[in-house]
Amino acid sequence: MPTYTAPTRDTRFIVNEMLDLASYGNLPGFENASADMIDTVINEAGKFCAEVLHPLNQVGDREGCTRNADGSVTTPTGFKKAFEQYRESGWGTIAQPEEFGGQGMPHVLGFVVEEFMAASNQAFAMYPGLTAGAISAITAKGSDEQKEMYLPKMISGEWTGTMNLTEPHCGTDLGMIRTKAEPQADGSYAITGTKIFISAGEHDMSENIIHLVLAKTPGAPDSSKGISLFIVPKFLPDADGNPGARNGVMCGSIEEKMGIHGNSTCLMNYDSATGWMVGEENKGLAAMFIMMNAARLGVGIQGLAQAEISYQNAVTYALDRRQGRALTGPADPQAQADPIFVHPDVRRMLMDAKAFTEGMRALALWGALQVDLTHKAQTEEEREEADMIISLLTPVIKGYGTDKGYDIANNMQQVYGGHGYIAEWGMEQFVRDSRIAMIYEGTNGVQAMDLCGRKLAHKGGAAIQAFFKTVDEEIASAKADETLKPIAEALDKALTDQKAATMWFMQHAMQNPNDLGAGAHHYMHIMGIVSLGLMWLRMAKVAAARLSQGTDDKAFYEAKLTTARYYADRFIPDAGALRRKIESGAASMMALEADDFATAA
Ligand SMILES: Cc1cc2nc3c(=O)[nH]c(=O)nc-3n(C[C@H](O)[C@H](O)[C@H](O)COP(=O)(O)OP(=O)(O)OC[C@H]3O[C@@H](n4cnc5c(N)ncnc54)[C@H](O)[C@@H]3O)c2cc1C
Repeated sequence: MPTYTAPTRDTRFIVNEMLDLASYGNLPGFENASADMIDTVINEAGKFCAEVLHPLNQVGDREGCTRNADGSVTTPTGFKKAFEQYRESGWGTIAQPEEFGGQGMPHVLGFVVEEFMAASNQAFAMYPGLTAGAISAITAKGSDEQKEMYLPKMISGEWTGTMNLTEPHCGTDLGMIRTKAEPQADGSYAITGTKIFISAGEHDMSENIIHLVLAKTPGAPDSSKGISLFIVPKFLPDADGNPGARNGVMCGSIEEKMGIHGNSTCLMNYDSATGWMVGEENKGLAAMFIMMNAARLGVGIQGLAQAEISYQNAVTYALDRRQGRALTGPADPQAQADPIFVHPDVRRMLMDAKAFTEGMRALALWGALQVDLTHKAQTEEEREEADMIISLLTPVIKGYGTDKGYDIANNMQQVYGGHGYIAEWGMEQFVRDSRIAMIYEGTNGVQAMDLCGRKLAHKGGAAIQAFFKTVDEEIASAKADETLKPIAEALDKALTDQKAATMWFMQHAMQNPNDLGAGAHHYMHIMGIVSLGLMWLRMAKVAAARLSQGTDDKAFYEAKLTTARYYADRFIPDAGALRRKIESGAASMMALEADDFATAA
């Protein structure tokens, strides 16, 4: 049976020491996040996830969700009760606005809770995760009436939310959607169409489900410019705002799938269902993007989370399992064999996981801080800069975070040898569960194109130049310190590779857009490597300072420095190879004709 312990020590290090959240105490909402409150949130959320959610992770995987004859869906044993506990403890309210019943605390703390939940039970975490995305769209684009009607109940967890984009013939290319929205005399719309793969589309954990649905009004342009967004509740709120008449939306079936079995992935039939437009007509995609950007960060955290739980279990196993002898001679001569932990190849996998999870956690929480600063920083300039950085980082956190999260879960399964392939150990579930994060909320191919096709060029390249400047400054200051110098020098090389790859795109993408498409995935990975490198440099800086001041927790800070060096040795050099791949262009990739791919007879 796999176990889970929330990484509270590392989280406190990042929140308190690297980000120094207390230093933002003058900003609205941050004053609530006192040192005691931060500790309480981290410790209590960790406890809830380890004690309540994690024991249901394998149950959810085994049982899955069941669609009943009347179209209702029953979630796995224990999910409903755990959701009640989640709601009563107020875990979903942490970073939500106070005026609608939230606690108004920084998103940094909300992200901490998201990681612990996704690690302990990703399928469960998706129910509140989708709700949070729907809340952000209504908050940003809903009318005052819609906000008052829906936000308090969604924030409290009485009602949950979904996002309905995908249709059988279109997922990435949403301009092709066919779901119709016919205006009604009372100002509502009749929504008709079929949506597929809708996470948490139907379940038994909340008293109402608020679907956010993309649809087209009559005569709307036949492209992404003709999409509008609608609120379609499962039960229409009555005059008192309580669930009333059943709306014309039903779950037609649930999908059999590779992982996250505890989450209901539904085909949803809309049959003249009553809906209300959110925001302006034909501007639905922009509204949905608000929701998707929030959700994309959440999905990036799922990558980190699955890497973390699989890593924790692999470490325990590697210390326990005995096979062979250390290359340098027996480490435990009294025993018949040494723990597999002594073998460099096993250590490689564990160190990769440690360097990725700690670096990725730092990046996700730094990203969360930018989300906070976008809304709460004191000056317009600071707010704009934070917005620019998080827009640039979102596809990296989602795409790089989940590509690597899956790789790490896969490698942690490898640490178990054949036992990793056996269901009882739980490692294969982590691999299966982590796989979806590379696909939904926009595939990672789409994230890469978002980064390279849109974000790099945004405002004449201002965002990427600001990012380069941040990394350059961090490198320059670290080079003056002997302990940090080797890490800074390694990062400097990767940054040079990233700058060169950026320049190469600028010189080639206009003449041949395929050159951009062919290198986008690699560029997203270079940017991931450099971003985590920046985080490792910052973490190493804090660790070196603590060690020189004297500390009771020497082992923790020394391990940070060693892991930073490992990151410099073993992750950063990949940037050079990725740059060369980008610079090889699209020629050989796009040269063959479709017939050339046919299997030879
Ligand atoms: C378990 C699960 C849960 C989901 N939950 C939801 C949900 O809650 N709500 C919802 O609306 N949807 C949901 N989805 C749908 C998911 O978001 C889509 O599957 C995903 O966006 C990809 O769309 P698609 O499957 O149609 O693939 P396609 O769009 O057909 O893509 C196929 C391949 O082509 C690539 N591709 C397509 N277009 C481009 C392009 N322009 N440039 C480069 N590459 C391209 C893609 O990267 C991919 O590799 C879920 C899916 C699953 C499996």
